[in-house]
Amino acid sequence: MRKKYTVDENCIACDACVVEAPNFFSMNEEEGHAFVSKQPESDQQIELCEMALESCPVEAISSEII
Ligand code: SF4
Repeated sequence: MRKKYTVDENCIACDACVVEAPNFFSMNEEEGHAFVSKQPESDQQIELCEMALESCPVEAISSEII
């Protein structure tokens, strides 16, 4: 199974996802929101992204099975 993650405009730039999974989520300081810098390529990496998704206080991260 592969999953694709996205951050939507509800992001409040709290940094939680970047702290949780820094290899996959980064902060766009200029635009004031996080973005997915790299999509996960293994189950272990999906697990890290899933933890980032769950850490988001405003549910700005979503995922879809691809
Ligand atoms: S955890 Fe959610 S609100 Fe916080 S930076 Fe990441 S996407 Fe934005």
